[in-house]
Amino acid sequence: MKYYLLFGPPGAGKGTQAKLLVEKYNLRHVSTGDLLRREIAAKSELGLAAKALIDAGNLVDDSIVEKMIENEIDCNPAVPGFLFDGFPRTVAQAEALDALLAKRGESLSKVISIIISDSLVFERIAHRAAIEGRKDDSNPEIIENRIKTYHQKTELLVSYYKERGKYFEIDGEGTIEDIFKKISDLI
Ligand code: ADP
Repeated sequence: MKYYLLFGPPGAGKGTQAKLLVEKYNLRHVSTGDLLRREIAAKSELGLAAKALIDAGNLVDDSIVEKMIENEIDCNPAVPGFLFDGFPRTVAQAEALDALLAKRGESLSKVISIIISDSLVFERIAHRAAIEGRKDDSNPEIIENRIKTYHQKTELLVSYYKERGKYFEIDGEGTIEDIFKKISDLI
């Protein structure tokens, strides 16, 4: 089983690339953001707990997303591999993922990091707000908070995965096709 991880700031294009990669490689796309939004739409207990945090641009609890990931892996035993998008976002989540895979005698294949500047993050999210209508995309202060959270909590994973020899970085400021080609070369 292959386990790839798409990494990068909000708006880096992870979702766009994930769609293309899933089609090409038949991987199971697991976006914790999408899973959480589904729970919110269904008004589940979990969704209600997550909504205020997400709308304010904060992370939800590690234990919630860790359980979601374990469930996705358990429920899809026949796929050739997984493509995680938006997970892990903290060192604790990365450690939990390593432990989860180790328990199965497996490990992460590669972390593919799509890097864009903070100013482009802003531009992309403002553009997406008009298309997708996400509440956390619609307010500049909330976007600021998501960028800050990324730098404070998620960026620590760069050295975490570098130390483990799993980290591969791609410049996310080219065309969708260029970036897709670079990621495909890594996979
Ligand atoms: P973005 O494009 O901003 O990265 P996502 O759809 O990946 O958006 O995530 C939206 C929100 O969902 C995040 O701001 C956060 O509140 C929550 N979220 C998603 N994944 C995680 C995670 N792994 N850990 C904690 N919170 C998460």
